[in-house]
Amino acid sequence: MRILVITGAGISAESGTPTFRGKDGYWRNFDPTNLATPKPFARDQNLVWEWYCERRHQIREAKPNSAHDAIARLSISAREFLLVTQNVDDLHARAGLAKEKMVQIHGDIFVTRCSRCDFSRIEPEQEHSPSVTPARSDSAASEKLDRFKRASLKDEEYAEVPRCPACAALMRPGVVWFGEQLDTKKIEIVENYLNRGSCDLVLVIGTTALFGYIVDWALRARGENGELIEINPDETPLSSLATKCIREPAAIALPQLISKL
Ligand code: NAD
Ligand code: ZN
Repeated sequence: MRILVITGAGISAESGTPTFRGKDGYWRNFDPTNLATPKPFARDQNLVWEWYCERRHQIREAKPNSAHDAIARLSISAREFLLVTQNVDDLHARAGLAKEKMVQIHGDIFVTRCSRCDFSRIEPEQEHSPSVTPARSDSAASEKLDRFKRASLKDEEYAEVPRCPACAALMRPGVVWFGEQLDTKKIEIVENYLNRGSCDLVLVIGTTALFGYIVDWALRARGENGELIEINPDETPLSSLATKCIREPAAIALPQLISKL
């Protein structure tokens, strides 16, 4: 079978990582759908970084659930397979899904990247704060940082807000915030997969399907004859276009569904 799977925050809900719009979505008094935008970061980087550090910690503590496991099994048995996930967590990978069979279309929460240049890095397992300590021996970068520090930052702020070791601009989480453009290289991977032919099966799991490109990819992948199955306890804009809707949590529905394929 040729398969496309699209997942959203709902597939990780049963691993204990809350969805944005669910009942546990709020962080302190903030609505995550407002926090995950460029505006709050421009106003208060400490606050936004604190939120992301907590989420990183929460994700590291979480384990893949039986829905992530079932998708990893499906990826092995399928003739052709691609997962497009809106999730920034690493639970699909930790369930055993090969990196080359998935696209994290909204980025990766464990990546920290510069808001100005191309510098990025993957955060190590043991991360206590997102602070960047400049390599003092790297003279050009550290001079730039020192100049920047003297010019605009108090010492305690400098210790908390990560700065790029290459250009001293603010570092930010490597995720796509609401209103930002998707990475064109990642779009290309999805488009190439769709252009090579339609799918026998499209699964759309745990997403509100509010982004037009998600609905578009799901419908194009299904083509004329493919099956489009939505797995979500709630109705979404995609429901009426699906060939079948399973109104159950993903960790219950998916292992059953996949064992029957
Ligand atoms: P969302 O929070 O808007 O919606 C989650 C969807 O999952 C809802 O439709 C809900 O009905 C459904 N759902 C809830 N529990 C479920 C379960 N047990 N099984 C199946 N479905 C369930 O999430 P979204 O549509 O993915 O969009 C929000 C954005 O937030 C995404 O772009 C994503 O990048 C980001 N996000 C990521 C994570 C993560 O990586 N784990 C978590 C929260 C938000
Ligand atoms: Zn930089």
